[in-house]
Amino acid sequence: MRVHHLNCGCMCPIGGAWFDGRSRGATASLVCHCLLIESEAGLVLVDTGFGTGDVRRPDRLSGLFRRMNNIKLQRRYTALGEVERLGFDARDVRHIVLTHLDFDHAGGLSDFPHATVHLMADELHSAEHARGFVARRRYRQTQWAATTNWRPYAATGENWMGFPAVRDLEGLPSDILLVPLAGHTAGHAGVAVHTDGRWLLHAGDAYFFHGEIHGPDRTCPPGMRAYQDLMNVDKDARLENQQRLRALANAPDAGITIFCSHDAGELHILGGQPAEDLVSATS
Ligand SMILES: [Zn+2]
Repeated sequence: MRVHHLNCGCMCPIGGAWFDGRSRGATASLVCHCLLIESEAGLVLVDTGFGTGDVRRPDRLSGLFRRMNNIKLQRRYTALGEVERLGFDARDVRHIVLTHLDFDHAGGLSDFPHATVHLMADELHSAEHARGFVARRRYRQTQWAATTNWRPYAATGENWMGFPAVRDLEGLPSDILLVPLAGHTAGHAGVAVHTDGRWLLHAGDAYFFHGEIHGPDRTCPPGMRAYQDLMNVDKDARLENQQRLRALANAPDAGITIFCSHDAGELHILGGQPAEDLVSATS
C-alpha cells in the first residue's frame, strides 16, 4: 500500500510558540495531517480536515473556533484539493476512516458523499446528540449531512501493542486498524496502517505537540495544554492513552511511527513537504 501524507487545513492561533512551540511570530502554525492510502479496496482517506464546503461557507464552522483557532480556509488545504493534486478524483475515494468528528477532521466528508465512513459508534452518537457549549460548537452536523454510508464500530476487538479493543474494518485490508484512544472525545480513535514493513499510527488529537509523546517526559506549550483541557471529555483517559503512546514511541524495536493531526513539524518530516509550504496560508 502506498501512503501519502496530506495537509488538509491551516490554523494559526494567536500565541505563536505558546501554542506550537516553534513559531517566532505572533501566530502559531498548525496543520490538519491526513493520510491518503492506495489500497486494494481503492483509495482510503484517514480524516478529512476542512472541506470545500467550509471554504465556500465558513459559517458551517462556529464563529468561536474560527476566531480562536484563526482558521485559514483555502481550497488547496482541503482533502479534495490534495486528492486532486495527486491526480485522483473524488470518486476514487471509496473509504474514509475518521479519528473523530470534530469540525477540523470532518469538514471534507461532504466532498466524498459516496465513500463509506468508518468510525467508533460512540463518536457518531456523541456528535449526533451534541449537548453543551463546547459540544455544539465542535460538532457541526452540516459537514456530514450528505453522508449516508456510516460504518460505526463498538469498542470490542483484540489487544494490539498494548491497546485494547483494536479491530479491522469492514471491506478494508487488515493492514488498516481502528485503535480506540478515548479522552479528547468519547469515541476518539487512532488509525494504524501497516506499510513498508512497519506500522504508522495516526493518533488524531490524542496529543497535539510532538514533545508530549516523543521523549521520556511529557512536554507541551501552555497554550496547547489549555486548549486540550478545554476540549477533552475525559482528561484521565486522554493522559493514560498518551502514556501508552509515549511508551510505544520510545521503544526502539516497536517498529511503529506515531504522529498526530496538528503538529506541523511531524507532517514536515513524514510528508517531505517544506515546512514553509505547509503553513504558507499564514502569510
Ligand atoms: Zn483536531
